[in-house]
Amino acid sequence: MTSEITTPVELKKMDPVFGQVSFDNHEQIVFCNDKDTGLKAIIGIHNTVMGPALGGTRMWNYANEWEALNDVLRLSRGMTYKSAITGLNLGGGKAVIIGDSKIDKTPEMITRFGEFVNSLSGKYITAEDVGTTTEDMDRIHKVTNYVTGISESIGGSGNPSPVTAYGVYMGMKAAAKYQFGSENLEGKKVLVQGTGHVGETLISYLRKEGAEVFVSDIHQDKMENMVAKYGAKIFTGADLYSADVDIYSPCALGATINDETIHKIKAKVIAGAANNQLAVEAIHGQILRERGIAYAPDFLINAGGIINVYGEIVKYGKDQAMKMTENIYNTTLEIFNFADVNNMTTQQAAMQIAQNRIDQRKKENANK
Ligand code: NAD
Repeated sequence: MTSEITTPVELKKMDPVFGQVSFDNHEQIVFCNDKDTGLKAIIGIHNTVMGPALGGTRMWNYANEWEALNDVLRLSRGMTYKSAITGLNLGGGKAVIIGDSKIDKTPEMITRFGEFVNSLSGKYITAEDVGTTTEDMDRIHKVTNYVTGISESIGGSGNPSPVTAYGVYMGMKAAAKYQFGSENLEGKKVLVQGTGHVGETLISYLRKEGAEVFVSDIHQDKMENMVAKYGAKIFTGADLYSADVDIYSPCALGATINDETIHKIKAKVIAGAANNQLAVEAIHGQILRERGIAYAPDFLINAGGIINVYGEIVKYGKDQAMKMTENIYNTTLEIFNFADVNNMTTQQAAMQIAQNRIDQRKKENANK
């Protein structure tokens, strides 16, 4: 069989890529194409000043390739700041594979993707994300060492969710200390939205400390499980966002703090695991500040997962990962103080501190 040969035509004219806002000074974008396996992937390397760009591979049925490109740009940039604020020697990167993971994913496609990762010689290190699994990472590990989140049986760090939950718990306690004068959550009313992998472990910590926990999930059986296992209460009010609680913990979806919900929120602290909780960072972060609601930045307090996989690179175990995750408490307090001193939102404060670290490292690297 001979391959079909097409005649190249000129690319359509469009806005210059480098100047577009979402491009945001990315160092490198790699388009990975393999006709035989059907692989179409994009690896985004945002910044490697602090170290190799680590971030998961998302497989998603994007409506079109531009959507995929935008997603990888946004996600890889986010990883730069997450690792920098957490104090890890990692840069920011992310990859997307275009397709429906349930229908289109094949072992051959994942292996081919691993070969592309390998071709970057460690500048990008991959991990699991939405649409990819530990099994996929194990497969990638067969063709490259630049992968984390592999099975414990072959030297991996195992399930990151309990570590993520511990970090969220630490961030919540720090936000409580800032807002209520005490980190003690005993008797505090906490609403946990999403009782999945992270939510459940968080609920167990909260109940152990004596917090009154209300849960909300789209699956009734999951909520009932939380009642039976931990003595949580199912939230039964008409509107979750106007719930009369002290702390709101989004552990399901992003963008739940938006134009519709923000003015209803009665909680005085927001601290949860979900990524990108603020629909529009600048606007909704500012409204929370004006309303006196202490918001613990999501990308800081949900960093337990990346701390966990970082252990695979620098060779530390679960105990060290938990110790480092505990430090999220101190960093969160530092951010609240920095935000107050500089009259900015906690989101801006966290971004600023992370950027300062990157700038400082850049200087040090230049002087080496
Ligand atoms: P998960 O899929 O195990 O749990 C999510 C839960 O939210 C599920 O129980 C689901 O039924 C529920 N849910 C979905 N839509 C909902 C809605 N509209 N209202 C209420 N509940 C709803 O996911 P997870 O691993 O627990 O992660 C939770 C969040 O934290 C995600 O946004 C994830 O991106 C983020 N996060 C997770 C980790 C990690 O280590 N797992 C790390 C960083 C960030």
